[in-house]
Amino acid sequence: MGEFDGLVAVVTGGASGIGAAVAEELEARGARVAVLDLEPDGAAHALALRADVSDDASVRAAVDRVVADLGRLDVLVNNAGIGAQGTVADNDDAEWLRVLDVNLLGMVRTSRAALPALRRSPAAAIVNMGSIAATAGLPQRALYSATKGAVLALTRAMAADHLEEGIRVNCVHPGTADTPWIGRLLARADDPEAERAALEARQPHGRLVSPAEVAGAVAYLASPRSGSTTGTAIAVDGGMQDLRLRPRR
Ligand code: NAD
Repeated sequence: MGEFDGLVAVVTGGASGIGAAVAEELEARGARVAVLDLEPDGAAHALALRADVSDDASVRAAVDRVVADLGRLDVLVNNAGIGAQGTVADNDDAEWLRVLDVNLLGMVRTSRAALPALRRSPAAAIVNMGSIAATAGLPQRALYSATKGAVLALTRAMAADHLEEGIRVNCVHPGTADTPWIGRLLARADDPEAERAALEARQPHGRLVSPAEVAGAVAYLASPRSGSTTGTAIAVDGGMQDLRLRPRR
């Protein structure tokens, strides 16, 4: 018996990278998974719906469709997100609002739409995708970090608000992970190989995090077996946040 047998999960941004790994992991553990994405892929999920987390009507329609077609909703993984580079001076108001709209309000919209169904679930859980950028000061990531810091604060506040309704809310903070997103970043670098080596060296375990490793943490937090875990964050960052090692020889 899989621990998610009989449960339905929604994964936003589930067509690529970390979200795709999460969808696969939850399915392997017995869940029926609905992927919501701007560009849903061809992977064989219970449902793959085109949805834009920056559009409230689109999110509501997709969540309604999941509940109508799959009969319930137990787990929401708020994973869809976009990047932004630069210092606080480098992006105009429109860009700040655009990235906040996807990375923060996207989670607000999907959670708002999912709450009525989650309240009916005996095993309700929300997992938000944070980042090492929420907890460490990284250069050239002012806007992105602000969105992920807000995700951490939102996670704790939601955990408090919905505890009595039986809905657990947690988040995961990946370090730099080996996904198409990072592939695109590296492709734009002057020296992609040197940039990759620098990103690997920044993480104490000396490599990028794998999407499957992040998916394992998401599955742990989403699992009905984790009923005492709410309002917390798990770092999956090779020790980047908390370890202070001597330089490698
Ligand atoms: P990715 O670009 O490979 O995948 C992101 C997915 O989200 C894509 O399928 C994309 O179509 C979808 N998406 C983007 N905007 C959307 C929208 N408005 N509505 C619906 N879907 C949308 O990225 P990834 O690296 O897998 O990142 C996933 C999450 O993990 C993001 O929240 C990101 O901030 C977080 N994260 C990534 C890393 C990393 O190093 N890759 C590190 C820490 C946190």
